[in-house]
Amino acid sequence: MHSGPGFVSLVGAGPGDADLLTLGALKALQSAQALLYDALVSDDILALAPQKCIKICVGKRGDRFSVAQDKTNALMVRLARRGLHVVRLKGGDPSVFGRVEEERIHLDQNGIPHRTLAGVTAASAAAAQFDFPLTHRGEARSVTFLTARGQDGAINFREGVVADPLASLVFYMASHAASHIQAALFAAGRDPSTPIIAIENAGRASARAISGRLCDLTMLVEDAAWEGPVLIGVGPAFGHARLASAVHGRIREA
Ligand code: SAH
Repeated sequence: MHSGPGFVSLVGAGPGDADLLTLGALKALQSAQALLYDALVSDDILALAPQKCIKICVGKRGDRFSVAQDKTNALMVRLARRGLHVVRLKGGDPSVFGRVEEERIHLDQNGIPHRTLAGVTAASAAAAQFDFPLTHRGEARSVTFLTARGQDGAINFREGVVADPLASLVFYMASHAASHIQAALFAAGRDPSTPIIAIENAGRASARAISGRLCDLTMLVEDAAWEGPVLIGVGPAFGHARLASAVHGRIREA
């Protein structure tokens, strides 16, 4: 065990499979003495930490079980003060809807040294797995990551952000927000025939994807009865997705 104030590594685990872990994340995991992990982190990845490492799930799975953020913050500080190397393992990239800044501020306030290691965000994994670009010359000149859910429920998207027909929009925390997204994009004047894709468990062997048009978004997503985390992409770039034998609007196992 270390002496001194301990240390916290805020680490991106990628979206699921251990293949998408960075070497830096792997090294951090192998030297972890305490591991605080999100519900979205897979068992394969947890198995890479030493057996004697303290392992605590701090939740965050939509509306299901989760530990309040202030409890997670307090736990990180308490474990670090025991002189431990604490790894706070987060799904995807900690800097994308990962609340990483709240955790860094709390660590700074408590004088705990820390560093952040990037991870593969779910959108990047999905793009690679289903062969679509996030930007594409002449079709998608920007990509925006949005969340459909804020602290107080559904978010009202600013029209300027969602209206550009040459933008790729990727919605996180989206599985229950399809009708909200569809209505907001129609209100912003997006063409009903704009390609869409919805992907569950991107980056994992169990991934499922559905493609279609904006006019069918709500129907397609609601029919799919997702269990895992879901991303929704809207924009011309998503029309390039290769779902192999999938018929338009149908689901396939990756
Ligand atoms: N930091 C994470 C995002 C955390 S927010 C990242 O960079 O990927 C949680 C949301 O991310 C989920 O509701 C879902 O929209 C998305 N997400 C995370 N993992 C995913 C996966 N494997 N497949 C699809 N979406 C995923």
